[in-house]
Amino acid sequence: MGYNPLVPPPLTATESRSLQTALEQLRAELGSAVDASAASAAPVDLDAPIGRVSRIDAIQQQSMVQAARMAAKRRLQQVEAALRRHAEDDYGDCLECGNEVGVERLTARPEAPLCLPCQSKSESRQR
Ligand SMILES: [Zn+2]
Repeated sequence: MGYNPLVPPPLTATESRSLQTALEQLRAELGSAVDASAASAAPVDLDAPIGRVSRIDAIQQQSMVQAARMAAKRRLQQVEAALRRHAEDDYGDCLECGNEVGVERLTARPEAPLCLPCQSKSESRQR
């Protein structure tokens, strides 16, 4: 197999372990973020005796909280999937092409399921 400069080298055991730790931390952080926002994401009570302006504020604020909560939930699912791949020794391989995702990209985003070229391709498909 020739050297392909576009494909990063496989993770070392040390890198793999520290990324696992990062994933576990992320899972804990995202889990408590999702839990903490559960109460504030409850529907706004339109009959509550608050002024019109603060009601609009409350609804706007709530939709921001909900959007953040959805994003945290989605990311948590990716983190959990990455931890499962880690347990099965599949972690670090791109789900699309099977190449290494690379330690630089995984350090920035430990749950990344795709290598950079595949990620760019899937983003251009979605647009
Ligand atoms: Zn790929």
